[in-house]
This record gives sequence, structure tokens and C-alpha cells, in this order.
Amino acid sequence: MSSQGGKKGSRGHGHLTLYIVGAIVLAIIVSIVGPPVLGDRFRPVVAVFDVGGEIFLRILQMVVVPLVMASVMSGILGLGDVRKLGRPGGYAVTYYLSTTVLAVVTGLIVVNIVDPGVGIDKALVEDARQEGEATVARAAGRRTGKKIQWHNVTGDRAETRGESQNAFVPSEGSWTVRILIDQVGAAHTPAAAKARWSADGNTFQDVPDGRFVAGEEAGIYRTRSPIPIPGEAKYVRVTFEPQQGGKRSVVEAYVAPGPPSIGEILQNLCLMLFTDNLLGAMVGMNLLPLIIFSIVFGGMLTTLGERAKTIADLVIAINEALMNFILLLMRLAPLGIFCLVAARFAKAQLDGQFLALLKTQAWYMTSVLSGLAIHGLVTLPLLLWIFTRRNPIRFFGQMSQAVLTAFSTASSTATLPVTMECAETKAGVSKRSTEFVLPLGATVNMDGTALYEAVAAIFIAQAFAIVDPAYALTIDKQIIIAITATLAAIGAAGIPEAGLVTMLIVLNAVGLPLELIGLILPIDWLLDRFRTAVNAFGDSVGSAVVERTFPEAT
Ligand code: ASP
Repeated sequence: MSSQGGKKGSRGHGHLTLYIVGAIVLAIIVSIVGPPVLGDRFRPVVAVFDVGGEIFLRILQMVVVPLVMASVMSGILGLGDVRKLGRPGGYAVTYYLSTTVLAVVTGLIVVNIVDPGVGIDKALVEDARQEGEATVARAAGRRTGKKIQWHNVTGDRAETRGESQNAFVPSEGSWTVRILIDQVGAAHTPAAAKARWSADGNTFQDVPDGRFVAGEEAGIYRTRSPIPIPGEAKYVRVTFEPQQGGKRSVVEAYVAPGPPSIGEILQNLCLMLFTDNLLGAMVGMNLLPLIIFSIVFGGMLTTLGERAKTIADLVIAINEALMNFILLLMRLAPLGIFCLVAARFAKAQLDGQFLALLKTQAWYMTSVLSGLAIHGLVTLPLLLWIFTRRNPIRFFGQMSQAVLTAFSTASSTATLPVTMECAETKAGVSKRSTEFVLPLGATVNMDGTALYEAVAAIFIAQAFAIVDPAYALTIDKQIIIAITATLAAIGAAGIPEAGLVTMLIVLNAVGLPLELIGLILPIDWLLDRFRTAVNAFGDSVGSAVVERTFPEAT
């Protein structure tokens, strides 16, 4: 079978790492200096960087699916019996879960000390809200949520009693409706309305707590918190009370799924393990079902003995060829990484975002980055030392190319080939551990993402409390944030800014307005890089920790 057991030592990783660090530093300098010196003439240069970076990223991604399948299968073939995976599998899952929880707890402690959202500018929250609305609508559209436009009120609201059109609401699950009334004119009585629901479109009854007086914020009236709609509702109707002095108003309702229960989230996570279409999973780079398939298929091959020898050898040869290809690709890494980083930072700088953002979001960034630093530089190295007695500084050096690639690509999936290469050939972690633990880890073990989700949710809650002092961030809400952040990180894909989408689950669970995600949007591309680096490092520490539990591990 394959040559199991890693080759200890470093194949000249020192120089390559230095070149990559140099490339990142140079890229940041170029992106900061370029725009003021060259102005708009810098844009074509950025376009060239963009293409270069995209090529590097595509080549990395191209290898992921065959590599994951071949490496998991060849790992099982190396073990000789799929049942031998039971113990290390159990340890791997325990490691993933406990480090994710540790990361969330670290995040919660840091954010509660720094309090980044306390005292934030109210206007900033309002702007962010508008920016976030488009994102939420996009995400909700994808998740079968419905955005409903109610253009109800005719003419002058001072005289008319407006009633909204009936609106269709999906009949399953619990739903909430958020209503926004944009008043043009000089209405001088507060906008008030009552929501009613119906299952058949004929008989309407009051939604419990469905009457609201919208509070004014920056000239826009909106419901302070989502109004819960009973699950069986198919139609919602909102009746407006007459207002005095008003001229015209546009009413817009946003229907979003109610907070999913923890059970529903778990259900979805279980479903993510399986696919009914293997090719579809390959095309969509859904690694979890591919890993499951490869374990089962590899297991079957081991039961066929000599008859499957050709195919087993083929799988092992494919795996080795891909690993050699990655080794070759890494020679291009400094150039690819330079292009990736320069293109993204330069874009931010050209949009005038970069330095401005660093100022307005300073405390939020401080919280996320210090949490990530504690987890990545203290907790994980400590675990590595306790469980493996490896020197954490050396190990970090051996994994540095993977960490830097994760920073540059913001994708743990795209980084996976490099993580495997470093763990195996540089850190000397045994093949049987890297081949199984790393692909699984890149998909479900995201410590950095979990930590960021917890910090961001508390930051948003603190900011929301400024516009709505009635919102209290109680301890039970913090616990719900901890649980949902853990699950959301497990469910997040290893692609850029995936954490931002699963963030909506966390906000939903504690009744925060989803559109406040606008507060963390502008800076997410940058923080994503740091959390992805921690994700990749967490996976590699996992492969070293779980290594001992494999039979015959070196
Ligand atoms: N970009 C991250 C990763 O690939 C996921 C996220 O937090 O957005 O690991």
C-alpha cells in the first residue's frame, strides 16, 4: 500500500515561507501606495493582479475534489479496514467540537471586555442597516424567505385608512414580519398599524401582539422588532390607522423565517452529510458527502482483497501525483499570493474604504483579532503541546505556508491541498491522520469562524441596544449565541465570507434585526482572512493531536 508515515523535516520551507511573507508585505505596500500615486491609472494594474490571483485560486480549487476523494480513500486503504477509523474518528470529532467551543468562549470573554458596540455612533448603525438590507434580502431569497412589498396607502394618509394587500406567506415553519414605513410628507402622528393573519385568505384574525406603533428613526418608521406570525398563516394583512398630516407613504414588509430551533439547525447539519447526487456534490464542492462516499467506497475496496488491487493502486497513485503537483504549485505561491492580496487590498483602497474602515471599526476589529490571536497563538499551541509534546513554535513554522495561503485566499477549502502538503511533508504528521482529519476538518472545524460569529453577534447586539434601549443582552441570549455560533461555524462552507451568511442564523436566534449585518459587512473581507488562517491552523493541530489514536501511527 502507500508509504505511510510522514517524512520528517522541512523541504526548504524556510525560504518559501519568507518569500510568501515578503509577497504579502509587498502587496500591502503596493496597494496602499498605488492609488494615491497613480490614481485611476492604477485600476488596470489591479485588474492584472486580479487575474493572476484568480488563476492561482482556481488551480488550488481544481485539485480539491480529486484530492479529498483520493486521499480519504487511500487513507482507508492504508488502514486496511474501515472499522479502524472508529476510534480516531471519535477523537477527531471530539477535538473539532471542543476547540470550536473553546474558541467561542474566548470570543465571548474578549467581546464582553472590549464592548466594541457600546457607544457606537447611532448614525453609523442606521447607515449600516440600509446597507445590510440588500444582503439580507439576497440571503433570505436563497433560503425561501420572502420579501413582500405592500404598496398600500393611497394618497393622503391623513384622510384614508389604508389596508395592505394580502400577502402570501409560506405556510411552513414560524415566520416573522418586519415592517418599514417610509413617510414622505409631514405626518405628525406616529405611524400605527395592526397585523392580522389568515390560513385561507378569507377569515382574518389578529396576530397576537400584532399592533404596533412604529418608532421613528431617521425619518423612517419601522417595527422595532419582528412581529411573530403563526406558522399556519398563509396571508398577512396589515391595516394602518389614519395619520394626520401625512402625504404619501410606501409600506414595505419583510417576511423572514423565524429563528430556527436548535433541532432544526442540527437537522440541517445532518442532511449536509449526504447527497443524492455524487456528481452534483463534486461540482458544488460539497466535501462532506464526498468524504462519506470515499470512506464507504474505500471500505468496500478493502473487503475485495486482490480483486480490487488495481483500483486501490490507482487511487494511491492519483493521491501521490496530486500531492506532487501541489508541491510544484507551491513554487508559484509567492506570485499567486502577491496577486490575491494586492488585488483585494488595492480595491478597498481605491474605494476609499481601507483606512476609513480601520478607524470606524477599530474596536470591533480589535475584539475579533485579539480573540483570534488568543485562540491561534495560545490555546491551540497549548493543546498541541499537551497532547503531542511537539514544539508549538516549530510546528507553527512548519505550517506557516498553509496559514499564509489561508490568509491570502480566505478559503480553507482552497487551502486544503497546501495544509495537507505542509502537515505531511513539513510537520511530519502521519499520512493516515492528514488524509482523513484534514479534509474533514477543512469542512467542519472552523474555530476562527465560530469565534468571529460570537464576537460579531454581541457587537451587533450592543449596537442595536443603542437604537433600541429596550433590547437587553441577557445571559441566556449570550448562551444562545454561543450554541448557535458553534453550529453556524460547523455549517459554514470553507469559502470566502461564508461565515457572514451563517451569521444570519445567530442573529435570528436572538431576535436581532438581520439587516444590522451591514455593521460588519464592510470589514468582513479583511477579518475573513485572519479567521480562515486560524481555521487552517486549527485543522493542522487537530491532525497532529488525533494522529496518536490511529493504529500503527508513526
Ligand atoms: N472563509 C472561511 C473559511 O474558508 C469561512 C468564513 O468564516 O467565512 O474557512
